[in-house]
Amino acid sequence: MLFDECQHHSPTWACFSSKHGHRYGEPTYNRDRDFIRRMWQVQGTPKNFLVAGEACYDWEMETYQLAYFRSENKNHLPLARYLLPYSQYMTAVTGFNDRNMINQCLLYRYIISYEPYNSKDVLMTILIRLLMGS
Ligand SMILES: [Zn+2]
Repeated sequence: MLFDECQHHSPTWACFSSKHGHRYGEPTYNRDRDFIRRMWQVQGTPKNFLVAGEACYDWEMETYQLAYFRSENKNHLPLARYLLPYSQYMTAVTGFNDRNMINQCLLYRYIISYEPYNSKDVLMTILIRLLMGS
């Protein structure tokens, strides 16, 4: 399961409500880890159920088993890799012949998420041709 855009919960970073049963000023993201631990209780062990998040914060990696992010930048600094060298990271490779991003994946041990631009158009064209029998 990919928790898309888990890096933001609207514009909140901390909750100062005294009505939610948590400490005053608790980080909003703290409950994500509880949520994932509860899913493991339902699904079995973490080995049977992979939970990925988009652009996870370092302490979220305590429970997220994989973080997806976009690192296409010629000045990319693999800070997450330096902080958590054994964590799993996946980055978007968006070009059709995107050797620079493939090299970045090999260099920093990122999993490739192959997302070429217009892929939906290409797939739709193939699907239409298959349906039309041509
Ligand atoms: Zn709250």
